[in-house]
Amino acid sequence: MLTLESKISELPTIGPAYVKKLQKVGIETARDLLFYFPFRYDDFSDVKKIGDVELGEVVSVIGKIIDIQNIRTRKRKMNLTEAMIEDDSGVMKAIWFNQPFMTRNLRSGINVSLSGKVVYAQDGFQISNPSYEILGSGQSLHTARLVPIYHEMEGLSSKWLRAHLKLILRLADDIEEFLPISIIENQHLFCLSEAISQIHFPDDKVRAKAAKKRLAFDELFLVQLYMMMQKKKWQENKGIKIEFDKKIEEDIKNFINKLPFKLTNAQRISSWNIIKDFEKNKPMNRLLEGDVGSGKTLVALISALAVIKSGYQVAFMAPTEILARQHLKEAVRRFGLDCLCAGVHSFEHNEAQSKQDDSDYRLKNELQLRDKSKHINIALLTGSESKIFRGEKIEEISKKKLLEKIKIGEVDLLIGTHSLIQKKVEFHNLAFSIIDEQHRFGIEQRGKLQNEIVNMKDGLKTVPHLLSMTATPIPRTLALTVYGDLDLSVLDEMPKGRQKIITKLVAPANRNLAYKFITEQVQKGRQVFVICPLIEESDILEVRSAIEEYEKLKNVIYKNFQIGLLHGKMKPKEKEEVMQKFSEGKIDILVSTSVVEVGIDIPNASVMLIEGSDRFGLAQLHQFRGRVGRGEHQSFCFLFTDSTAVKTHQRLKALIKSDNGFELAEQDLKIRGPGELVGIRQSGLPDLAMASLTDFELIKIVRKEAEKIISENDNLRKYPELLKKMKKFIKDVHFE
Ligand code: ADP
Ligand code: MG
Repeated sequence: MLTLESKISELPTIGPAYVKKLQKVGIETARDLLFYFPFRYDDFSDVKKIGDVELGEVVSVIGKIIDIQNIRTRKRKMNLTEAMIEDDSGVMKAIWFNQPFMTRNLRSGINVSLSGKVVYAQDGFQISNPSYEILGSGQSLHTARLVPIYHEMEGLSSKWLRAHLKLILRLADDIEEFLPISIIENQHLFCLSEAISQIHFPDDKVRAKAAKKRLAFDELFLVQLYMMMQKKKWQENKGIKIEFDKKIEEDIKNFINKLPFKLTNAQRISSWNIIKDFEKNKPMNRLLEGDVGSGKTLVALISALAVIKSGYQVAFMAPTEILARQHLKEAVRRFGLDCLCAGVHSFEHNEAQSKQDDSDYRLKNELQLRDKSKHINIALLTGSESKIFRGEKIEEISKKKLLEKIKIGEVDLLIGTHSLIQKKVEFHNLAFSIIDEQHRFGIEQRGKLQNEIVNMKDGLKTVPHLLSMTATPIPRTLALTVYGDLDLSVLDEMPKGRQKIITKLVAPANRNLAYKFITEQVQKGRQVFVICPLIEESDILEVRSAIEEYEKLKNVIYKNFQIGLLHGKMKPKEKEEVMQKFSEGKIDILVSTSVVEVGIDIPNASVMLIEGSDRFGLAQLHQFRGRVGRGEHQSFCFLFTDSTAVKTHQRLKALIKSDNGFELAEQDLKIRGPGELVGIRQSGLPDLAMASLTDFELIKIVRKEAEKIISENDNLRKYPELLKKMKKFIKDVHFE
């Protein structure tokens, strides 16, 4: 007897070849097959009499074949199959192109149902390339209804899937309900078995919609519930409660007052939220989201200062060595002698002192500081480097020595790459971990990272507070779903006085003007990024196009300039080397695929040229653009596209109008759907949840229901089916 757990190889009429194909897309059992949903329907539900069909409409007709034959056209050497269909209202022609095998299935005298578009032909209307099926006793599958269309992976055609799903559809009745009845009733949802059978073969559009809603609800619900459970689990850890006294408050105020600029309001609020979190005895788990250049690093450093001043250690992790080095420089600049702590204050107003020469001043200043307060010792640890700053200059130090210093607590702020979470690194009293560009780590890695941070136990068995940072602007509602396990702070405001980057859509005819402009910029000493088109289907093609572009620029257009190349097939080490050279000014023009590092600061770069810009999402284009305009030079972003579509041009024009990442992300979301947003694509969300991310209303409802369940504080014990489903879901979605 067939059950939901029956292996697909045991299902009627599925041969070994198809078993393999199904397994390749993760379908092992009848249940899995039932959970392979269509993504749309062909609406063939409009069944008409032949005498009533009208030109241009998509219809279904049912009738008898009175003639059928294959014809070979002389002119275009095509095989045509022509059939005449008759019902009691008239006769019409159906025509198929290049499918001569049709006549093996369809013969005169057979009753068929045909669905397709009515087109004009010399001798009247005809239905062109229709779906067809021979009428037997059962329901129609491929015609005369809403016909499900599936993603045709591994050569699994929709037609094949329909036929085989139909054979096992009755098993849908056995699918266990896992949602609490109260939710089903409150939200007027289909029960699960009904939803499954209606999603495949809906009776009508209303039911198709209801089925989709139920299944999207499920996915969103499971995601959110999972996130909330994660959050709860995290909060069960013991955190390090950091209490701030007046002195520390003073220190932070001084630090902020001594910055050469004013904090933005958003920076101030975010820093405050973080510091408030430190005062709780639960570990913080917060995401700091802010556009490129919104000043996230500074928020991280201010919070770090609070922790360090309380006598604890801080770890600051970046995805690449070059970013880690950049953070080291920034930390040294900010925490270095000039704005270290309260001690500096009195000195600056001492006139006699300020007349002395700089080094003398520095030395005395430092001595006095040592008296009043301890230095902030900053270290860098990456795969290839270990360095330390102890108030004077950045020095090399052996890895072994550095590890010792970390262990005895002599390092206050440790900056680095993945190297920070190696077993060898033991902290004295780590209280705060910062992860920069967290979306670069992927959901699995992030989980691992969190675990490892948890495992970086100090003697107190506490978990450090965790701050993740990302430049991906995800609208808040979305972030609450995708990052529902985190608290959220948003830097939705740019520092004052940022220069506006001049963005231009360049017509193909003006390409040479753009090249000429770039020549002038490079001659002035500026640097240039050239981004090659995104090729979704194939990394190899993308790399090839980047190499071609590189060679063209190097050998034809800019023979006298230094051209660099960066793409995803290079080793991390090679990529870093190229970025390093670029940041040192040894490369004038860097040709890159979309892998180009986002966090890196190259103040000398003034032109961002993007080829095939129509292939990128707006938010991503905006991120590329954020690579330039970081220094004092007026900067430019040139968008190239071969597309002549009005829509494309309108979309790209949004980029010219807006320099707000969140705004652009919302537009992307509306125009191209959530999958386009970097960070969401990597989130591992299942299809329906992904597709429903724009349905803010649904997300809100789902969230409310999930919160209710969580607030019962029972770890789902009351809902064994839900628990079971959750476990399977987590496994399928690779959250773990
Ligand atoms: P991101 O958020 O992209 O990581 P960064 O933290 O790298 O941005 O900041 C970009 C630049 O802006 C840095 O040089 C930083 O010193 C500067 N910056 C940060 N905050 C402010 C501010 N409030 N006003 C002016 N400049 C700021
Ligand atoms: Mg940054």
